[in-house]
Amino acid sequence: RAKSLGKSCYQIFDVSMHDRILDRLRMENDLRRAIAQTFSLEDPQAVPELRVVYQPIISLETSKVSGFEALIRWQHPELGPISPADFIPLAEEMGLIVPIGYWVLRQACAQVHAWHERFPSDRNLTLSVNLSPRQFLQADLVEQIVKAIQETQFSVACLHLEITETTIFKNATLGADILANLRKLGIQVYIDDFGTGYSSLGYLHRFPVDGLKIDRSFVQDDDCLKSGIVQTIITLANQLKLSIVAEGVETLPQLESLRVMLHESGQVQGYFFFKPLEATEVETLLGTGLKRQS
Ligand code: C2E
Ligand code: MG
Ligand code: MG
Ligand code: MG
Repeated sequence: RAKSLGKSCYQIFDVSMHDRILDRLRMENDLRRAIAQTFSLEDPQAVPELRVVYQPIISLETSKVSGFEALIRWQHPELGPISPADFIPLAEEMGLIVPIGYWVLRQACAQVHAWHERFPSDRNLTLSVNLSPRQFLQADLVEQIVKAIQETQFSVACLHLEITETTIFKNATLGADILANLRKLGIQVYIDDFGTGYSSLGYLHRFPVDGLKIDRSFVQDDDCLKSGIVQTIITLANQLKLSIVAEGVETLPQLESLRVMLHESGQVQGYFFFKPLEATEVETLLGTGLKRQS
């Protein structure tokens, strides 16, 4: 096709670009189809393409699971599992992240509510849900969240929302207002991937948040752990009375370094403890009452 338009056109619109455009169109199309399929499933036997998995977060004080982060998964019928790191940015660009995000929130609230009911000694398990930049800036964000909480009967004090620093700082004035409105409801707000984004330490105290999630790139980098970078983030958080979750803990030495710096306060999340779990696996875990892997 491009060939008939002449040689110069052929050079610009080369084969690999053609493939990439086709790939992208296909993914857009497939993502729309996955959403339609998942949202409209009535047959309980049918397998939805989209689902939510739950990664435990562990309290250093008790060494037990204190809550879960909800993470979306996409099982493509031909391509197999597709990483959220690949399709969330696409969904964000297409605006599909808004319905997807509310679907995850609703699913996860309903699920964790069911666990609260079924395991009464775990009624304070928290649920962390990621909010994308586009979703964060929706005019009816607070309204939609209130609706999801009411419809699922989820106890609002257990809800944590995770937002990246870039999302907040890029929209500083509006961002602070939105955060304040969320916190008025009793929701806790955490800054996700702290340290990797548009980080403005001097402004941090102006944003009403409850905690920081230290990005796994710091936790997994021996130099960052040993050179005082992680310690500095923790000291800052302590000063501002913010809670801390360290992400991406994979090894015992990483855990031990963090334990020294966090002094039993703070929380950890990572493959050293648990990978993201299917809902049924969480039920087994809660049922055994063990709640720790190592
Ligand atoms: P995130 O919010 O920072 O989530 C943590 C990511 O780190 C997850 O990747 C989790 O599986 C991974 N992780 C946890 N512990 C370890 C570890 O010890 N080692 C390693 N290598 N990785 C670990 P996942 O599930 O692939 O999600 C990637 C990102 O996609 C998330 O990063 C989040 O930004 C986005 N995402 C996932 N689900 C949702 C969602 O429902 N809504 C929105 N808006 N974004 C989502
Ligand atoms: Mg997160
Ligand atoms: Mg993160
Ligand atoms: Mg992330």
